[in-house]
Amino acid sequence: MILDIVTYPDPRLKEVCVPVQDITEEIRQLAADMLETMYDAPGVGLAAPQVGRNIRMLVMDAGVQEDKKQPRVLINPQLTLEGEKIISKQEGCLSVPYNYRADVPRYERVHLRALDLDGNVIDEELSDFAAIIVQHECDHLDGLLFIDHIGRLRRSLYDNKVKKCLKRKHAE
Ligand code: ZN
Repeated sequence: MILDIVTYPDPRLKEVCVPVQDITEEIRQLAADMLETMYDAPGVGLAAPQVGRNIRMLVMDAGVQEDKKQPRVLINPQLTLEGEKIISKQEGCLSVPYNYRADVPRYERVHLRALDLDGNVIDEELSDFAAIIVQHECDHLDGLLFIDHIGRLRRSLYDNKVKKCLKRKHAE
């Protein structure tokens, strides 16, 4: 089932999410729905708060760009940021409207610990595109968006645009 995606400035995107306690059938179904929603959008990552669920869970696929699907579900992910800072070019987000994109500083590598849908421990190093996606998605679980990393001037220009568009919508 394709889920509705929550968009900025919805306050639900600013909440810190709570850990998943049990990997229930409902969690498995949510993961399947989130993957379907992500591929449909299309996007390379989707976090639970983006579909209105305040829990620490995300789906991602760093392989879709090469046309090979590598779906991943991460439950209660924890990152250790490693290596140099790099620039993630023209990052975007399914929850940031008007297809806004900006360059965002990220770390080139992360150490990831999480659970998969079977409750197995994931403990691995990610680099390049996968590292950028997982940093972006884990930010969502802490109530952060990539536009929280772009500097005040660009952020206020974007916020003004959003305000104007929302006003126009309400006036219609
Ligand atoms: Zn996002």
